[in-house]
Amino acid sequence: MNPEEFRRHGRQVVDWIADYLAGIESHPVMSQVKPGDIRRALPPAAPERGEPFEAVLSDLGRILLPGITHWQHPGFFAYFPSNASGPAILGDLLSGGLGVQGMLWVTSPACTELETVVVDWLAGLLGLPEHFRTDRAGGGVIQDSASSACLVALLAALHRASGGRIAADGVTRRYTIYVSSQTHSSLERSARITGLGAAGVRVVDVDPRTLAMDPGHLRALLDRDETDGAVPAMVCATVGTTSTTAVDPVPAVGELCRERGIWLHVDAAYAGVAAVCPELRWLNEGVAEYADSYSTNPHKWLLTNFDCTVLWMADRAPLLDALSVMPEFLRNPATATGSVVDYRDWQVPLGRRFRALKLWAVIRWYGAEGLRAHIRKGVALAQELASWVSADPGFEVHEPHPLGLVCLRPVWPGLAADAADRATMRLLELLNASGSVYMTHTRIGDRVVLRVAIGGVATERRHVEQAWEQIRWEHAALSATLP
Ligand code: PLP
Repeated sequence: MNPEEFRRHGRQVVDWIADYLAGIESHPVMSQVKPGDIRRALPPAAPERGEPFEAVLSDLGRILLPGITHWQHPGFFAYFPSNASGPAILGDLLSGGLGVQGMLWVTSPACTELETVVVDWLAGLLGLPEHFRTDRAGGGVIQDSASSACLVALLAALHRASGGRIAADGVTRRYTIYVSSQTHSSLERSARITGLGAAGVRVVDVDPRTLAMDPGHLRALLDRDETDGAVPAMVCATVGTTSTTAVDPVPAVGELCRERGIWLHVDAAYAGVAAVCPELRWLNEGVAEYADSYSTNPHKWLLTNFDCTVLWMADRAPLLDALSVMPEFLRNPATATGSVVDYRDWQVPLGRRFRALKLWAVIRWYGAEGLRAHIRKGVALAQELASWVSADPGFEVHEPHPLGLVCLRPVWPGLAADAADRATMRLLELLNASGSVYMTHTRIGDRVVLRVAIGGVATERRHVEQAWEQIRWEHAALSATLP
């Protein structure tokens, strides 16, 4: 494709995306296809001869679109939001257009230096501590996902806990990490990847009401493990758990980590970006004082297309020591001076995309006030929904719900817990099959609840109102069919 052909097809693609976003409400939110439908509709082998780009666009609409679940649909309330916005889409396009690979400063200085500036900007916007800035001992880096951020934090933590020996000797002692039952599963995967295994993961109790980590039980586990000869390497506190947005007590957990020299990682994948609003800065409590590393996902709720997780460290040295390996083919004069940042040492892969472009585009397009307005809209709609739910005797709302997620439990009079849970799951199926909303569920204690996660770019009050009306209607209709 030459540049003139690219110009023509590029315009078609931008028009396609604009039309798609403008008409997104005409699609069922959740794809209704069956497993294998899309695969069967596609040719089994690659074409021998090139095809016109129009054929690709035509098949996108005809074959693939029915198999798309529309995450940007205003009725998407599942999981957590995964915001896409115009400036981020265009930033990604520019990144693709430049086609640079920013593994080292020298392989594209602007790719590295823009990233450093943008993650420092974001730290400032979120009120994160000065020592997270790259001109201090710390620094931020864009990772593909929060899972990678946790893994990288664990590698740094293990490096520090082993006095640097792990890089040479491997895992020769019993290292342990501490999570709660509400911590994201990526921590267990990180433990498996690093060779600690599930046996190295210690699960701390949570407060049964708030679902926040119990620091008293953490202390007890640490005492027991240390007595047994284990080396506690990392505690992961979560600010905004995946299931219910519970917030672990970072100051109390951090105090225990400090006393014993244990690495504290704070996983704020969903909730962290909300600290762009001063009234939500309480989310950062204890981070400045205690966090060795901290991560949040602009690709969830901060208007930036997947993938974009930012990981900050209070001291970058353990991470760089853990991951720096210098083969001959990467040697270059800039790296040799020690005065440039080479982000390949801050992540697992060598190569890296120019992700900073989209975050830069987002921050410049919306400005701090636009980012705050987006978060505030999601929080306000969630609070309004929670007030409607609590006022309805047919439902119970899980407290607290300080952000954009509301967990609600339909009441099924006369049904035992198991049957009631099955009825709740049936209700969820009916809602999702309707095509106008997509929600997911979780368990709180031993009961199933519906999760309504608000914060999509296109979601307005009317969509939340419609979703609530639909939940009530389907609940009433289903109740009428039950014994
Ligand atoms: N941590 C928390 C608290 C999350 O909620 C999630 C995803 O929802 C993750 C980690 C994993 O995020 P990612 O998909 O970026 O790996």
